[in-house]
Amino acid sequence: MVKISKLLQGYQSFYKQYFVEEPNVYQTLVRDGQAPKTLIIACSDSRVDPSILLNTNPGDIFVVRNVANLVPAFDSDMSHCHGTSAAIEYAVKHLKVENIVILGHSHCGGINTLVSTHKHNHTFIDTWLDIADTPEIRDICDTHSHDVACKLCEKEAIRVSIGNLMTFPFVKDAVLNKSLDLHGWYFNLETGALEIIALDN
Ligand SMILES: [Zn+2]
Repeated sequence: MVKISKLLQGYQSFYKQYFVEEPNVYQTLVRDGQAPKTLIIACSDSRVDPSILLNTNPGDIFVVRNVANLVPAFDSDMSHCHGTSAAIEYAVKHLKVENIVILGHSHCGGINTLVSTHKHNHTFIDTWLDIADTPEIRDICDTHSHDVACKLCEKEAIRVSIGNLMTFPFVKDAVLNKSLDLHGWYFNLETGALEIIALDN
């Protein structure tokens, strides 16, 4: 059993750095408020923490993490809970971020579930993964082996999320005004490579 105390030791190390040795970092962030210029939408997977991957400092990036780093299409039904959409709204409208990065990765359990043909009967996961269940994704699944399909779908799902971002009126406006750029990145867990995904738009 992993000792929770290891996490608290990690916190002590963080505290020593930022509240003893470099107290100005958080003093400035509290005084001036946060002003990150980039929103990162990453997977909840424990191996792809954007702050670690990108070696960022406190205040550098605004982050949303969810299963398979997906962005749903704009949905005007406010009876649903829209956690990812709410974070995107805050980042674009209030923080006025200049970049949104969809950070996908290899060996994604969420995409693996999407590609798998057998039923898992998850309550929330299957509905969430339907975001990426497009004809293009189905075509990939129908024409490739499971392992190849996973890799291709991990990248195609990034394009799906970029497309869905453009269904948010305030995102589309900011992109058209050239005050916001959209990016798709893919992290390979085996090689460490970070691939820039070519986007259609
Ligand atoms: Zn993942």
